[in-house]
Amino acid sequence: MSNLQPPRGTADILPQDQRRHRHVTDTAQAIAGRYGFEEMSTPIFEATEVFKRTLGETSDIVTKEMYVFDDKKGRSITLRPEGTAGVARAFITHLRSEPLPLKFFYRGPMFRYERMQKGRQRQFHQFGVELLGVPQPLGDVEAIAMGAHILEALGVADKVTLQINTLGDAECREAYREKLVTYLEGFRSDLSEDSLERLGRNPLRIFDSKDESDRAVVKNAPRLIDHLNQASTDFFDAVKGGLDAAGVAYEINPGLVRGLDYYGHTAFEFVTKTLGAQGTVLAGGRYDGLIQLMGGPPTPGIGWAAGVERLALMTAEAPPAPRPVTIIPRDPAAQTQALVLAQQLRRGGLAVDLGYSGNLKKRLDRANKAGATAAVILDGDSATVRDMETGEQTDVALAGLEDHLQRYR
Ligand code: ATP
Ligand code: MG
Repeated sequence: MSNLQPPRGTADILPQDQRRHRHVTDTAQAIAGRYGFEEMSTPIFEATEVFKRTLGETSDIVTKEMYVFDDKKGRSITLRPEGTAGVARAFITHLRSEPLPLKFFYRGPMFRYERMQKGRQRQFHQFGVELLGVPQPLGDVEAIAMGAHILEALGVADKVTLQINTLGDAECREAYREKLVTYLEGFRSDLSEDSLERLGRNPLRIFDSKDESDRAVVKNAPRLIDHLNQASTDFFDAVKGGLDAAGVAYEINPGLVRGLDYYGHTAFEFVTKTLGAQGTVLAGGRYDGLIQLMGGPPTPGIGWAAGVERLALMTAEAPPAPRPVTIIPRDPAAQTQALVLAQQLRRGGLAVDLGYSGNLKKRLDRANKAGATAAVILDGDSATVRDMETGEQTDVALAGLEDHLQRYR
């Protein structure tokens, strides 16, 4: 093999980084559990329809970023670019008759064929939550507050800002759409090719464009937030009031629309300045129409997804690797004894390494490099325990060894 690099946009996650990732998802899981959310996993690939219908034909993801291929029977398959569509599909398949609300979280790899930049990969990981069956703004508030709580538990709360917006209900989005199109028509020559395409199908999406010239055009465009009907205003007020009551600080960003088509009412992002251009670490919104669109019973939903890599980059220290006790047989005759002892201690809950080969000094060196807290030098009937921090050595009878080693747990 000549190319030993992982495919472009993917990464090998080596133990030190994996511990950070694990810390992010374990922390998120622990907090989500306190809000009554349970883990579910859906397949890493789905029928292409699952994403194409739901994410919107004009979304960046569907138009450019999906990994689509035909399987051996000619069925169109897509590697999942996000988690909500799969959870919604699974809900319709298995849980449509369950009493609502239902609360799920998921974690795992997502795949998007993106242009490579810092903080943007083609395989990345998300932790996400979905709250199904709650039409009230209280659901939005809880989902957002849970996101804030997780960021706080990760120790990054002071580095992120919560931005919220409302996309209103379908009625006011429709009325606003006409005003927006009229405005944008005046700037046809300034819009990117992608946005000209969006203009006919989903003009609101132009707010999400990363093209400089597009951004300049939408800067002065009429804003949806100024064209809300009463119901949408009331809903947004209730979300803001709830966040105030829960002590969750936010800014209103009228240009925030989110990249997917299925959102209405609340949209939000937690953003940071510490990661450069790709500063969104957790983002989501309300998707009341999604499940019905997929053929399920009308079921409101709200959810968000967090980028695990981006959060891992923000957490200061990787949690330390567990430190072992190393058992070193003094001569080959003690090797079996060492193995038996190691198994006994591991069953008792200790992390144990075996020193495999080399003279005693070499093995002690290696134990030291592996971060061992103690080395047990085994010699037939007796054992010497060397504390690797102090260098102090103690002879310990075999019968008392397990007790003696408890201090190194
Ligand atoms: P953007 O507008 O930056 O492309 P998005 O709207 O596509 O973001 P979401 O679909 O909301 O992103 O994904 C939720 C989170 O997942 C993002 O806020 C980010 O933290 C993370 N994320 C999304 N795409 C990537 C990627 N290609 N690489 C790493 N993390 C990502
Ligand atoms: Mg994107």
